Amino acid sequence: MRESTWWKILSLAALGLLGALAVLLLWRGRAVRTAAPAGIRVVIDPGHGGEDGGAVASDGTVESAINLDVAKRLDVILTFWGCDTKLLRDADISLHDPDAATIRQKKTSDLHNRARLVNEEPNPRLISIHQNHFPQAQYHGAQVFYANGPLGQPWARLTQENLRRCLDPENSRAEKPISHDVYLMNHVTCPAILVECGFLSNPAERAKLQDPGYQTALAAVVAASYLQCTQEEGESGYGSQGETSVLLHGMWE
Ligand SMILES: [Zn+2]
Repeated sequence: MRESTWWKILSLAALGLLGALAVLLLWRGRAVRTAAPAGIRVVIDPGHGGEDGGAVASDGTVESAINLDVAKRLDVILTFWGCDTKLLRDADISLHDPDAATIRQKKTSDLHNRARLVNEEPNPRLISIHQNHFPQAQYHGAQVFYANGPLGQPWARLTQENLRRCLDPENSRAEKPISHDVYLMNHVTCPAILVECGFLSNPAERAKLQDPGYQTALAAVVAASYLQCTQEEGESGYGSQGETSVLLHGMWE
């Protein structure tokens, strides 16, 4: 077996263990059960890809690559915990039809195909991963957006709160409904969240977003929040913050 294959196996195992630790601690003090809800497929969307790199930082850092790094980690952690997942892209590609010719046609086709890939699932949940950018450098902090009001809002609120408490206590942002110009989020009918993991325009936050350890911590918080949300959905409804922060606090300093 080639050395690179061993590294891949080892890194996947390490990610899985981290996810396991996250979920075990998440339910600290409770009976630990198999967390993955049956009959749901979690569709993970690494935003942009191919010719559409998304936001580009002043140092040339491209959003689509970080989206993919975080999304792959999220996929591994959720899969480790028995969730049925679908990763919309696992390479730096656009999902447009072969007959799309111009950049505009490719972008439109890509977004239509992503929406179709979500909506063709019988019982999906969508997690879309993006990075933020703003003309002024001082803005920072992850923010979670949601679609389909009552379906997505409690999930987004829980994820936002866990990201703040576990990774960035200074972050005072609140979850928000997605704006009308984000095609994918406005063309799915399932519960859906879009996580803007941080601002590429803020040099300090950009450095964190490029760090593999921080990318894993982000993915673990998003994964644990999903599991917590679906678990509580089956008990007393969405919304409790539970113990997530206890465990994930200190994962990243
Ligand atoms: Zn984006």
